[in-house]
Amino acid sequence: MIPYGKQQISQQDIEAVIATLESDFLTQGPQVPAFERAIAKALGAQHAIAVNSATSALHLACLALNVGPGDHVWTSPITFVASANCARYCGAEVDFVDIDPVSYNMSVEALSTKLKQAAVINALPKVVIPVHLCGQVCDMQAIYALSQQYGFKIIEDASHAIGANYQQQAVGNGRYSDITIFSFHPVKIITTAEGGMACCNDAELADKMRLLHSHGITRDPELMLENSQGPWYYQQLELGFNYRMTEMQAALGLSQLNNLKRWIEQREQLAQAYDDLLKDLPVKLPIQSPMQNSARHLYVIQVEANKRLSLFKYLRAQQIGVNVHYIPVHLQPYYQRLGFKAGDFPQAEDYYQGCLSLPLHPGLTEQQQHYVVEKISEFFNE
Ligand SMILES: *Cc1c(COP(=O)(O)O)cnc(C)c1O
Repeated sequence: MIPYGKQQISQQDIEAVIATLESDFLTQGPQVPAFERAIAKALGAQHAIAVNSATSALHLACLALNVGPGDHVWTSPITFVASANCARYCGAEVDFVDIDPVSYNMSVEALSTKLKQAAVINALPKVVIPVHLCGQVCDMQAIYALSQQYGFKIIEDASHAIGANYQQQAVGNGRYSDITIFSFHPVKIITTAEGGMACCNDAELADKMRLLHSHGITRDPELMLENSQGPWYYQQLELGFNYRMTEMQAALGLSQLNNLKRWIEQREQLAQAYDDLLKDLPVKLPIQSPMQNSARHLYVIQVEANKRLSLFKYLRAQQIGVNVHYIPVHLQPYYQRLGFKAGDFPQAEDYYQGCLSLPLHPGLTEQQQHYVVEKISEFFNE
């Protein structure tokens, strides 16, 4: 099967992990802080906190921004469920903003309209979580302007977008948001097996996330409420979690990071090759906004809704691991139980009917890519 996404693991990656296994620390050693510094430097962020998944990073980000019961958090319906679940962990209400039919990201127009309505009924969101779907960066300047007008905070879900740029600057530098989170799941751009990162420029937010990612415990005498009782002493200041990344994961991440630029270039080349190879077929190709350089995490085409299932099955039968990203979150049974229903976000539902993710990852060969296109072409000519 040619997978839609796949990790690249080099001999160097393997050696970095083995060296860590043979070192004194499997957790809480030097690799995690080194990985955090490397990410912060690469993206131009002041602070980076490594965690065991992007889901954990989203949870910590919501907690750091004081999301709690009675608060509203808005995200895109076309995303992985974690972008919404993080607010539910904090007891907050989730709502969605419909997508833009061109970029498939959260529509700024829909956001603006929804904010106007929410202001009237005093139900403005505390946090909005734009998701850089497929690696294409949302219109962050416009979303940031709305945040200034309506007083909400922004968490960028950049799970798809490490290595992407917006207005020539790296996603994660926090120019237009409070916290940016990344995923290092194996299908994402770089991997630590499981893993995530939260980046921000505010020391207070960073301290909060750092405290909560390790049980709410501090060993820093400066932060303790009374004098330290000795070198063994620690204090639990908050109810935190164990969301720590291991040393082996951080060693892998550090080694993977060396390839980031090259892998993004390869993804871009493959995406442009698809654009060219597919241009005469009855499929809608992904459109890129000129304000940004996508990380090209996913290459999503749109086909006629009544052909999607048969095309999916046809390609799978030819060992092509196409996939569907995503089932609208508001239509998941859990969210339907909260009151969402079909018809709530028509653009998202329309997108879902026809979307299909083609294989795209740096290990995809030209030959494999031609095979994929040939099979799609065959499907439409039969
Ligand atoms: C993968 C993904 C997540 C969750 O990442 P994990 O590291 O698996 O927890 C969250 N949001 C989006 C958009 C994702 O694609």
